[in-house]
Amino acid sequence: MELDGRVAIVTGGARGIGAAIARDLAAAGARVVVNYRSSAAEAEALVAELGDALAVQADVSTTEGADALVKAAESWGGSVDVLVNNAGITMDGLMMRMSDAQWDDVMATNAGGPFRCARAVLPLMARARAGSIINIVSVSALRGNPGQVNYSAAKAAVVAMTRALAKEMGKRNIRVNAVAPGFIETGMTGKLNPKVLEAAKEAIPMRRLGRPEEIAPMVRFLAGPGASYVTGQVFVVDGGLSA
Ligand code: NDP
Repeated sequence: MELDGRVAIVTGGARGIGAAIARDLAAAGARVVVNYRSSAAEAEALVAELGDALAVQADVSTTEGADALVKAAESWGGSVDVLVNNAGITMDGLMMRMSDAQWDDVMATNAGGPFRCARAVLPLMARARAGSIINIVSVSALRGNPGQVNYSAAKAAVVAMTRALAKEMGKRNIRVNAVAPGFIETGMTGKLNPKVLEAAKEAIPMRRLGRPEEIAPMVRFLAGPGASYVTGQVFVVDGGLSA
């Protein structure tokens, strides 16, 4: 199998897009570390389903959390071959009324998390002279979404980080790519006003939201040997929304 025995961390892997990614990587033979912040029951159930997997509680928006997550993965798996920075939050609102906390928390989780987790795995990947880091960003990083200045800015920061880090680590055979989903059916979009979702469907050429299972195969491809010469890129999976 394409990821046979590879150790893969999926941050925020207990539910939503992260859980679909964890399942797909495991189906390709990976040993998956399912990170969660508060969804302990979901994480334990997923690990039981996957078999050779580990659940690790850690808040990736903090240095202590990211470092502890990578340490736990290394102790369990012996190495970390794949890091999927998937954990993310929204705290939407119009910019005129946006609080410092709305800005700071979204930046700390959605941009700080990928930075801290990638920084923690780089020494392991550099030693192995191999690794694949996949950042889950969003089409809002590329187009901007009204009511999501904080979220769009944080995701755009990760797009830039993806390109810069790919250039930094290419010579060590560490690949860094991003996947930019459009509207996907998860708890995150479940919070949106139904009118906003209807308008989104109208704007999507495929006239429907995507499913988490439709994001996972792109991540699996980028993690595996088929993408061995692919780095520094952003792959949009959005039903044509940004076409
Ligand atoms: P969900 O709200 O369904 O899940 C978010 C996940 O992130 C949860 O597993 C949550 O863990 C985890 N998480 C949040 N904060 C932290 C933290 N500080 N430390 C560790 N884990 C954390 O969201 P989605 O599945 O929809 O989103 C997954 C990713 O995809 C996000 O980065 C999101 O921005 C991105 N995305 C989603 C789109 C969509 O339409 N759904 C569109 C474009 C991008 P827990 O439950 O344990 O708190």
